Amino acid sequence: MFAFITRRSQLHWVALLAVAVVLPTVSLLWFMSRVIANERLVVRQKLTALYQDKLTDASTKTESLFAIRVAGLDKINPSGNPYSFFRHLVLENNFQGVVLWGADGSVVYPRAADVMGNDVSSDSPLAGAWHEEFAKRQYSDAAQLYDRFMTDRDPHVAIAAITGKSRCLSKLGRFNEAIEQCQKAAFAASAEGADPALRPIIENARLLLLSLLKQSGPSPLNSRIFNQTITALIGDLYNPAGDRAMLPANQNLFIARKVLEALQGPFRFDDARAKEQLEKLAAAEELSISAAETLRPYAGVFDGCFQTDLGQKPVYGLRHRIQSSTLLVLLSDTGMASILSGYHDAFSGSESTYRILNTLDGFVAGTSQPPGSPFTVAALPDGFPGWKAELYFQGSDVFKKAADRQIAVYAWTGFLVILLILIAGGFATRAVGRQIRLNEMKNDFIATVSHELKTPLSSMRVLVDTLLEGNVRDEAQANEYLRLTVKENERLSRMIENFLTFSRMERNKVAFTIVDAKPAAIASDAIESVKTKFATHDCHLAVDIADNLPEMQADHDAIVTVLVNLLDNACKYTTDDKRVSLRIFPDDGYVCFAVSDNGIGLARRHIRRIFDRFYQVDSSLTRKAEGCGLGLSIVKFIVDAHKGKITVESKRGQGSTFTVRLPIGQGNGN
Ligand code: ADP
Repeated sequence: MFAFITRRSQLHWVALLAVAVVLPTVSLLWFMSRVIANERLVVRQKLTALYQDKLTDASTKTESLFAIRVAGLDKINPSGNPYSFFRHLVLENNFQGVVLWGADGSVVYPRAADVMGNDVSSDSPLAGAWHEEFAKRQYSDAAQLYDRFMTDRDPHVAIAAITGKSRCLSKLGRFNEAIEQCQKAAFAASAEGADPALRPIIENARLLLLSLLKQSGPSPLNSRIFNQTITALIGDLYNPAGDRAMLPANQNLFIARKVLEALQGPFRFDDARAKEQLEKLAAAEELSISAAETLRPYAGVFDGCFQTDLGQKPVYGLRHRIQSSTLLVLLSDTGMASILSGYHDAFSGSESTYRILNTLDGFVAGTSQPPGSPFTVAALPDGFPGWKAELYFQGSDVFKKAADRQIAVYAWTGFLVILLILIAGGFATRAVGRQIRLNEMKNDFIATVSHELKTPLSSMRVLVDTLLEGNVRDEAQANEYLRLTVKENERLSRMIENFLTFSRMERNKVAFTIVDAKPAAIASDAIESVKTKFATHDCHLAVDIADNLPEMQADHDAIVTVLVNLLDNACKYTTDDKRVSLRIFPDDGYVCFAVSDNGIGLARRHIRRIFDRFYQVDSSLTRKAEGCGLGLSIVKFIVDAHKGKITVESKRGQGSTFTVRLPIGQGNGN
């Protein structure tokens, strides 16, 4: 019944453990399979939400970049010299063109005029020279006629005359003289603060000088004059000082083109930056002129971008109101891209790409032919009416990839958790197993104890009954019976003493009295204790105690118990011709007690366990030897408390030696 209950409770434990391991594992696996099934959807939603946020950020950035550009336009003074703000807008604000309309809708900049020519009206004092030079091609005569007006009080006449003479000299092949003359016109004192009528005359002289220099060919002197002339021209064009009388835009552009053409020639010009700026300004002026011809001041919304077609490349326009004037600025696609850079920064990654489309679904920025269809479309901020941003994923499997990454993380986590559960389950199983074994041992112990107690009690009862009934031959037999009764009694006492020691040991209640102890005295008490038993079992005990053994710090009675148990075992586990020896000798700070027998010996696998509580090599009730597997565990407990060691050497069938080594003077106990 008892064993049955135990087995049932064991099964109960095993089932409980299995549930504790299997249930969380199965739940985890189920949960993971659900998570994995939903992961793709979740990832898609998460990514889309993430990109929506990015879109909002990009839109905010674009809005602020655009606002900065528009705010820059408010600083323009529309009634000032147009070239002052033209230069500023093109060079500093990177606009590709500018048009300014007045309150009445007429173009203020770029206003065109007749192309600069060499014509001289018939009432001009130079008409005769002009006729001689161009109609008759009499260059010498023409030069003389020009010569007369070179010192005219009217600078318009004088400079035109010098230029004319220089031109005639060059046509006569006298380049050096021509250059010399032309310089006088090009760098005339009246050039500074020239009025709008004088400016083209002076610039004309300078352009002539450039062409004369080119014809004359490079020389150090010519090179110096070239640089001086170019510097003067650049200093006049696009009004860097803000004080030049304004030339009509087409004339200005004509001169700029001529200067740029001359810079392609054989002469070196040192100021590369000035050249670069001139190129930019000339290109912007050209675009401005064609915009002024094509676009109207009020045709569209204000402060909103629109796309227009002025050349081959798309150009973006933006109309802005300043006071009563209308300003139009032009942006190239790269200029527009810089305003839209928020989208580029946010979406031109490895995973996503974007495309900005204008009102007419024309491509503006991003990837012109993105793959597949957009996963999100959003409107651009206010400055871009009707424009939209489309987002695409570079590869079609982006969601899958992201989901797979997440799934891998879940799978690994799940795997580790299951592993941990299994490891914990393993430990728990071991602990439970140990507990179950201990329970079994205790059960066996109770059975053995009952059995062990029963044997001496029944022997004593038989002996006492016999004596009481008077079934004895003589006094000697009666004494023998009494002696046997005493022996059984001793055996019983020893056994109970062991149980009590063990019980105290278990409850941590053993107190050792550590005092000076003599090894020889301990040995003598132990021998005395087992003497009767050895005699009864015909067991021969050889004792060898070394001389001059040192005293040691130990609990005398406890060590006697150790020796009694070892000697008792030596006798018990020896069959015929029982020979036991006890040797006591000093060894390197220790006193050694070695108990040897010629008994049944121990297999190696048992040696490790014989000091465990309740452990018996043969634990069956039918075994011959008395005892219940506590002796050696008590021995070990006492030896450990004395900071000693116990070792076993044994061979099956050949006997065993148990050696206890106790430190001299360092014993310790509690
Ligand atoms: P028991 O009360 O069974 O003797 P012990 O703790 O004293 O318990 O010993 C544990 C087991 O060790 C014994 O059951 C026995 O099998 C084995 N053993 C102890 N001493 C010897 C020995 N001298 N020779 C062989 N086996 C021994």
